[in-house]
Amino acid sequence: MAQTVSVKVPGSGKLISVPTGLFIDNEFVPSSNSKELIHAVNPATEDVICSVVAASAKDIDLAVAAARRAFNTTWGKNVTGFERSRLINRLADLIERDAQELGELESLNNGKPVRVARDFDIGDSVQCLRYYAGWADKIAGQTLEVDNKIKWAFTRHEPIGVCGQIIPWNYPINMWSWKVAPALAAGCTIVMKPSELTPLTALKLSELVVEAGFPKGVINTVPSLGSVGGAALSAHPDVDKVAFTGSTVTGRKVMEAAAKSNLKKITLELGGKSPQLVFESADLDQAANWAALGICYNTGQDCTAGSRIYVQNSIYDKFLDILVSKVKELSIGDGFDDKNFGGPVVSKVQYDRVWGYIESGKAEGAKTVIGGVKRSGKGYYVEPTIFTEIRSDMKIVKEEIFGPVLSVGRFETEEEAVVLANATTYGLGAGLHSNDANQCMRVSAALEAGTVWINQYNLLSNNVPFGGKKQSGIGRELGSYALEEYTSVKAVHWNFGEKLSWPL
Ligand code: NAD
Repeated sequence: MAQTVSVKVPGSGKLISVPTGLFIDNEFVPSSNSKELIHAVNPATEDVICSVVAASAKDIDLAVAAARRAFNTTWGKNVTGFERSRLINRLADLIERDAQELGELESLNNGKPVRVARDFDIGDSVQCLRYYAGWADKIAGQTLEVDNKIKWAFTRHEPIGVCGQIIPWNYPINMWSWKVAPALAAGCTIVMKPSELTPLTALKLSELVVEAGFPKGVINTVPSLGSVGGAALSAHPDVDKVAFTGSTVTGRKVMEAAAKSNLKKITLELGGKSPQLVFESADLDQAANWAALGICYNTGQDCTAGSRIYVQNSIYDKFLDILVSKVKELSIGDGFDDKNFGGPVVSKVQYDRVWGYIESGKAEGAKTVIGGVKRSGKGYYVEPTIFTEIRSDMKIVKEEIFGPVLSVGRFETEEEAVVLANATTYGLGAGLHSNDANQCMRVSAALEAGTVWINQYNLLSNNVPFGGKKQSGIGRELGSYALEEYTSVKAVHWNFGEKLSWPL
């Protein structure tokens, strides 16, 4: 049995116990052959919170074997949808019960405010689990008439099998739930690899998996470096599917490993450089609220961050003034202070990366209208930064920054706006603000993105699919669409009357 450590919640005497081992077959265990540790850092203080075991490739083999045993015995085709539904609902109840503690742990390791983690990330995760619990007993195929009197066919939507799930650090609990919920509903078993930057809440959730009563091996959790555990899962011959969220560069590697090993099915949720268009008929106050939310939420560490805004010339100055005043109202700071809307970025690497982009924006001639100045003191803080006077060849306009850095440009006509919005290799999200209904229809159809928001931004719903076009990904999460990614369709042809005359 591996250990647990007690983690102190700032500002109170409260301790949260965190398991530090790998979670395989419903037990926390040490690595089979590695002494490597992952050090979880608090980005607000830069201190190490605690260290957890890092899985080796051999540990991934053990976790995959556990998931395969469970798939073949207690889960997969051996459990009813009603029972899967009951267990997923139970897990949702336990997460809801522990929302405050999970929110505190999420804030410690990721930096986001406790109230944001608790009320949004965890609230949404509970709803996501309940949504898929509702599906678990309703997954069904079709009955197809081939020849009414003698032959029918039917389809079965069978669980794909053992799924590797590789998640990033920006929404550790939320991404865990988006991945786990549809996989469990479909009857798949799971080897979950959380980001090496944020392994703590995935381990804490594993305790709840046991308490909920899931059979051993159904969900296994293996914190590991991406190049070790993530690569091993992607290349594993006994993994039937990998669901990945993270950067486009890594997504390419996952796809390559899947192709070279066993042609396992993959879904990829990758990066973005999502545009928002503000037209002159828009409610400018509302558009500014959504624009500020789009770039500042989660300190800009969001795959759908609205990091490019194009504003119609006639309202440009007015809109920019409102937007700047809205952003100034946001308070960025300690995640344990409820007044704060955002915390630090997740790590030193991410901090340096975001500041590198801010410096490049300045060097390439963009104008900073707010932000762009470093804070003193501890913590990986980046104030929201807005650039104007941008050009399409600037790095800040072309590349995903994953921080609160916004580029604001102008357009004259609707056609020009659409060309600017679509001038990217990504296609994850896009927003438009307009009170002209015909324009909303035209522009939403023309935007090249998996999700288009009209007169709002960045709000998702568990029953609505989410995913990317172009280099933003393959496949869909959420909604009934995600179930298709975790099931394989078997067609059964049934002859109850035809005699084959022989020879043909
Ligand atoms: P990443 O792609 O390196 O990591 C995401 C996950 O993939 C992590 O669990 C990581 O351990 C794993 N991984 C790393 N190398 C792997 C490999 N060779 N094979 C399999 N899995 C591997 O992303 P990151 O370093 O966490 O962040 C870098 C950038 O990625 C960010 O700045 C941002 O641009 C983007 N990002 C996007 C999202 C999103 O939701 N679309 C989320 C996080 C990061």
